[in-house]
Amino acid sequence: MSDFQTVIGLEVHLQLNTQSKIFCGCANTFGQPPNTQTCPVCLGLPGSLPVFNRRVLDHALKIAMALHCNVNPFIKFDRKNYYYPDLPKGYQISQYDLPIANNGFLEIKTGDTVKRINIRRAHLEEDAGKLIHDPAANCSLVDYNRAGTPLMEIVTEPDIHSPQEAYDYLTELKLSLQYLDVSDCDMEKGSLRCDANISIRKKGAKELGTKAELKNMNSFKAVKAALEFEENRQAQTIQAGEKIAQETRLWNEQKQITISMRSKEEAHDYRYFPEPDLVPFTVDQQTIEEIRKVLPESPAEKFNRFLKQYALSEYDTQILIQDKNLAAFFEECTTHYPQAKKICNWIIGPLAQELNTRRTGITTLNLKPGDFTDLVQKVDEGILSNLTGKNVLSAMIDTNKNAQTIISEKGLAQVSDDSTLEKIVDEVIRENEKTAAQIKEGKENAIGFLVGQAMRKTNGKANPKKLGDIIKRRIQNV
Ligand code: ADP
Ligand code: MG
Ligand code: ZN
Repeated sequence: MSDFQTVIGLEVHLQLNTQSKIFCGCANTFGQPPNTQTCPVCLGLPGSLPVFNRRVLDHALKIAMALHCNVNPFIKFDRKNYYYPDLPKGYQISQYDLPIANNGFLEIKTGDTVKRINIRRAHLEEDAGKLIHDPAANCSLVDYNRAGTPLMEIVTEPDIHSPQEAYDYLTELKLSLQYLDVSDCDMEKGSLRCDANISIRKKGAKELGTKAELKNMNSFKAVKAALEFEENRQAQTIQAGEKIAQETRLWNEQKQITISMRSKEEAHDYRYFPEPDLVPFTVDQQTIEEIRKVLPESPAEKFNRFLKQYALSEYDTQILIQDKNLAAFFEECTTHYPQAKKICNWIIGPLAQELNTRRTGITTLNLKPGDFTDLVQKVDEGILSNLTGKNVLSAMIDTNKNAQTIISEKGLAQVSDDSTLEKIVDEVIRENEKTAAQIKEGKENAIGFLVGQAMRKTNGKANPKKLGDIIKRRIQNV
């Protein structure tokens, strides 16, 4: 590989999460019974006419701005003609020569550097239906629920130079799109799909090599693996003195290889022409400015602000901003208890763990920021041990009760009261005379053992720091 440079350009199809479809009033919802979300327009019945959904425009403008694109205010659609059973009209309404957005960029962190990936264009189109191949019935079934789902296709320049960079771009793009709330970006549900174009060329060469277009990857990991396989295959092909064929190749997840699907000769001529059923229109500057005003903070902006405002480490901040709802929860927490670092630790530690095992997000939990910070504060003040605190958090989520209620009900408060702890310590010293003697001779690391014994006697409810102090004091005085 070392003689070659890898060149990658990515095409991402994003399903927009509007309530209705792009050219009709059908619900834009996933997972409904087949062919229940359809009407004459999205079934392509003769005489039906499309009407452009205004909300789709808002979403598209947000994406265009977030990707620093030039917005083309002249909105025009084109027909992309091809025949396939999942496409009832025999053409897809798309944008050909005048995409709504072009010439943008996305900054990504890759390794230790920040790199700018240029966005060539982003355009609107409609999704096709879905074929379901049923070997048992020896036939294929078609579900048109997806037909007419609004899509934004986002195309990069061939600026990406490794499979890892492609992965990093996709990760950053997904996060940015999630911040905009324009799509759920779920590759498993197909709401985000990615085709990857890849070629290699001799280092220093000016011309691009012949590319292969890779399809059928259903995770970012698969995109990376497919690109890794393909850059090696292309290098081997060239080293064997053969030419790279321009073709579309399918990723086979089981075998972890790409397989040729069709060559350039078999490529479609789509006979694009302007869509006569939709009148072109212009978006006025005021509409664009209104969207710009409500454009939410980007992940990068939030990252920089959190660093400054809360004095967190880059590492903590990076984790915190991966989920914008969790980041918002964090900010609300700091208004209740201004200990940002401690709150952050509890969010990216125990709380994230709870969310993970429950496979849910913060917004579906009924956890109030003030209740959460009460808990954090109780641990800080030594009323609860760290471990008990975690258990209380879990119980809070299960029961919707606040920390104090759970502590009272279960008798969980940490024992910090001196005279109680002293009694326990004395007992422990009596039972472990040898260890106590060693400590007296200066073997300080044996203290931990006695602390452990005392914790046992209190079912973990004693304050370990205090225990350590008392043990030292009592042994010195013996
Ligand atoms: P096509 O006409 O085959 O769709 P495009 O020129 O529209 O090709 O480019 C599609 C995507 O492929 C873009 O993301 C672009 O950056 C990328 N691309 C184009 N040429 C190459 C190449 N030689 N190597 C790698 N990627 C490429
Ligand atoms: Mg293309
Ligand atoms: Zn419809």
